[in-house]
Amino acid sequence: MDNLMQPFSLRVSEIIDHAARYHPNRKIISRNIEGPIIETSWIKIYKNSKKLSKALIKLGINKGDRIGVMAWNTARHLEIWYGVPGSGAINHTLNPRLFSQQLTYIINHAEDKVLIIDYDLLPIVEQIISSCKTVQNVIVISDLDNMPKSTIPDIICYEELLKEQDEDFEWIKGDEKEACGICYTSGTTGNPKGVVYTHRSNVLHAMTSASPDMLNLSSRDRVMPVVPLFHANGWSIGYTAPLAGASMVMPGREMTPEALFEMLEKGVTVTAAVPTIWLLLLNYLKSNQLKLSTLERVIIGGSSCPRAVIETFQKDFGVQVLHAWGMTEMSPLGTICSFKPEILELSEEQKISIQETTGHPPFTVELKITDDNGNKLPNDGITQGKLWSRGAAVVQQYLKIDNKAVDNFGWFDTGDVATIDKNGYMRITDRSKDIIKSGGEWISSIDLENAAVGHPEIVEAAALGVTHPKWDERPILVVVTKENSNISKEQIFKFMESFVAKWQIPDDIIFVDQIPHTATGKISKIDLRKVLEKKQYTHPDL
Ligand code: ADP
Repeated sequence: MDNLMQPFSLRVSEIIDHAARYHPNRKIISRNIEGPIIETSWIKIYKNSKKLSKALIKLGINKGDRIGVMAWNTARHLEIWYGVPGSGAINHTLNPRLFSQQLTYIINHAEDKVLIIDYDLLPIVEQIISSCKTVQNVIVISDLDNMPKSTIPDIICYEELLKEQDEDFEWIKGDEKEACGICYTSGTTGNPKGVVYTHRSNVLHAMTSASPDMLNLSSRDRVMPVVPLFHANGWSIGYTAPLAGASMVMPGREMTPEALFEMLEKGVTVTAAVPTIWLLLLNYLKSNQLKLSTLERVIIGGSSCPRAVIETFQKDFGVQVLHAWGMTEMSPLGTICSFKPEILELSEEQKISIQETTGHPPFTVELKITDDNGNKLPNDGITQGKLWSRGAAVVQQYLKIDNKAVDNFGWFDTGDVATIDKNGYMRITDRSKDIIKSGGEWISSIDLENAAVGHPEIVEAAALGVTHPKWDERPILVVVTKENSNISKEQIFKFMESFVAKWQIPDDIIFVDQIPHTATGKISKIDLRKVLEKKQYTHPDL
């Protein structure tokens, strides 16, 4: 029988249309880069995004052109989030923390035609612009008063550009499978790789992510993404919040605990970021005896969330932790740790142990673990294997790379090692390249790190496998302690014994002032190894 239903195209413009139509006056509170906190609404964001689309087309942007956007989380960034794809162009998110060589590489590789950047980030672009071959215009997100002087000729002031337009504009239409956004993986080895999201994948992913077992978003929520919109598709929050008709708080550039606390207290009910942000915030709240008056849920992902963070949020602040796993290639959410009914029967302590896993996949995501030969391994919660994924918003091929990123059955190798239990709860034990292979057994560097940071005097820890004459590899631990701490190696070994098996305890501990991080704020094991090489570190048995 013929299709008798209406042809509704899953394009992201539908999301902002919906928010403007049915939630027009929902507040969007934003700390703009100039400093002041402003209030706007979905209807105003919708109108400005239409103006931007119109302006981009006047600048000569055609369907499928790429626009590089380097901006912090502000209301204006939301306008761009919809204005760019609304013009038929593709929103290429740029992480200002990347090295300039990497930025130049990805701008050239994506062939960005226009760059839209926050005004404080202009110096980064000035440094590289002469090597960015395809860029024709640079739009600086600022009003006229704050427009910086620049060595780049003819930079365009964002607010002035919008002033010249009206909002009488029809979104550029097209197939839902057209490209909508690009985000490059961080490229810890080799060049970064471009993941191209379609309108359809972004809409499906947002619908799934907003659902009750995922972020559980509704129009009664006020969502604050601390995770930058340029990190892994902004964890999809730029789509999920307006889709749910939720209000938003955009924290801007200020990431200090004081600044985040101030923004959280603007009625935020849901927030999201990597664990390091929350470790700092919790310390700040405790030392200043502060409470969180409206926050209900915190989504924590990007790297493993230590048990202590889960406990502190839930027991001391009454905030539910939703531990999540995902990756740029998955749009990005793959699992979230919400409770299935079988978990509700467990004791409080057991529930927290479940929350140390990253939870279960939603509709549209499928996961499996295999051995190195591709044989499926059991979901017994113990057996570790290579983690593969398949789904509606999972990469199939990277930009301009001929080979598919999936096997013949459509499975994508995530590069992670995991266990899956009988209820479908997945626990990341490591990235496959970081797992420590000791005498044929695998030791999870994440388990060791989480055990160590549970100690109140340890700020951060990184576990590495180093060559060992008898065991191939043995774990060592690099730690940053709190200021003025004089905790000894023996005290740390003793503390860790309560959390990991004795044979997994690291053979050595190295105290450092700081551990190197990647552009997305994760521990950079590659750089850490370089630091140790410089110190000519070898295992104590060698
Ligand atoms: P980047 O490395 O640039 O931050 P991604 O955000 O795509 O890129 O990183 C995805 C990887 O982050 C995953 O493959 C996994 O190794 C790690 N990761 C994400 N969430 C978690 C989590 N909750 N626990 C452990 N590892 C995680």
